[in-house]
Amino acid sequence: MSAERRPTISIRTGDPRRGPVIRVAPVVLPDPSRVFATRAARLEALAPGHPMAEWLSFVAALCRAQAGAVAELPAPAPPAAAEVAQAVRAGFPPLAKDGYHRSPLWRDALAFLLEVGSDLELPDQALSVIGGLRHRSGDDMEMLARDYLAGEVGPDRAGEAMFSAAALQVHFTQLAAGLEPSALRLLEKFGLCPCCGSPPVAGIVTAAGALPGTRYLHCGLCSTAWHHSRAICITCGNSGGLALAEFEGGNGAVKAETCDDCRTYAKMIYEMKDMKAEPLADDLASLGLDLRVSEAGYARHAPNPLIIGG
Ligand SMILES: [Zn+2]
Ligand SMILES: [Zn+2]
Repeated sequence: MSAERRPTISIRTGDPRRGPVIRVAPVVLPDPSRVFATRAARLEALAPGHPMAEWLSFVAALCRAQAGAVAELPAPAPPAAAEVAQAVRAGFPPLAKDGYHRSPLWRDALAFLLEVGSDLELPDQALSVIGGLRHRSGDDMEMLARDYLAGEVGPDRAGEAMFSAAALQVHFTQLAAGLEPSALRLLEKFGLCPCCGSPPVAGIVTAAGALPGTRYLHCGLCSTAWHHSRAICITCGNSGGLALAEFEGGNGAVKAETCDDCRTYAKMIYEMKDMKAEPLADDLASLGLDLRVSEAGYARHAPNPLIIGG
């Protein structure tokens, strides 16, 4: 082809028809002073008239106690920058939930929650769980935390697991808040938290911010949010079999995203339908949707962290 007949390729920069390139933050770290208070307020708003009102009110009180623990107890020191960099380079989350050497400070958070809990008007069964935990040794508590974080707690220990989960949420949320966002990377498994490696409790499709319609997954343990494409399944990474299920007559804020490739589902919250939705609270308040979707043969991607084991 002669030089004259060679097609011209022109690259136009600053095309006025295109806006500036907007990048979404891949990782959004939590603000512990807001996470638990916001969650408690949402649960308090969802409880009245709800079929599970008593339960939601109890969880709201637990979240208020978590907010109190954040306000009143010293925060643990985050890992050193070099330690974070080493983990990230190796492709691991720096606060790996089953490997991170947590400080015993988490047990102070647990003691705080148990003290607040013992003053609440609770059923005898819950008070007996609290009484039992208050007399456990430090070694026993560490074993409970280890089992919980490894997903090895059965329904017979669901009550104990709930309180230790709440204390560990406080601890890991404080640790995550102390990390430097630019030091973090999304994991190879996009569906797991880049800070602690936990599965998300739910996802939120944003209605505001730099790029509305972006999906963030929210960690059930350390409260970190991370970006995840809406086009692929958060469990298997395939895109062909995704569908959304919701309650008829609901406001459409909470939907179950089902995947026919791996037969799992996860809750997705659409902020444009309800700006006050909060991942953990709205997940708990929509357990009826879990029943419906599991009856259709889908398994939940991961349990809600406060009802693990039962
Ligand atoms: Zn996390
Ligand atoms: Zn899938």
